[in-house]
Amino acid sequence: MKLLKKYFLPSDYFREFHSITPEYLKERGIRAIITDLDNTLVGFDEPDANEEVLRWLKEMKDNDIKVSIVSNGSQQRVGDFSDPHEIQYIYRARKPLGHSYRRALANMGAAKSETVMIGDQLLTDVLGANRAGLESILVLPVKKKDGWATVVNRRIERIIMRYFDRKGLIQWRD
Ligand SMILES: [Mg+2]
Repeated sequence: MKLLKKYFLPSDYFREFHSITPEYLKERGIRAIITDLDNTLVGFDEPDANEEVLRWLKEMKDNDIKVSIVSNGSQQRVGDFSDPHEIQYIYRARKPLGHSYRRALANMGAAKSETVMIGDQLLTDVLGANRAGLESILVLPVKKKDGWATVVNRRIERIIMRYFDRKGLIQWRD
């Protein structure tokens, strides 16, 4: 199934976003990150950034790696999370459509080839990245529980992940 791989296969897998280091990114020529918010950085029902998120963002900043949140969430959800820490963001992004990815790249002044998308969902984050021509990293969801809009996507995702797993295409990094 070439199409499944073309559209849904991430470039890499990390169990947690904060295991992704500047060294790992620089080795791959990456200097900008587009990241999902809900269940990637914090649980979908957690309003605020925690110390792990802030430490990781600072680590990226100290290494001249730009970070932009691209979320399908509302302005209130994404703004309340991002504004206190002056994180760039795009809300109601309509991932997997490509428009918001292109806007985020323009905001960061980054080229596709030097940008990676980090997210917990194949059907929005990874599909969007693959369509936009970006590298992508799949992370495990922070919490098992999802928002209502995600429940159906997760079912489809499980089927695709089982297929990738059978093909030996999945290797999680710690
Ligand atoms: Mg998510």
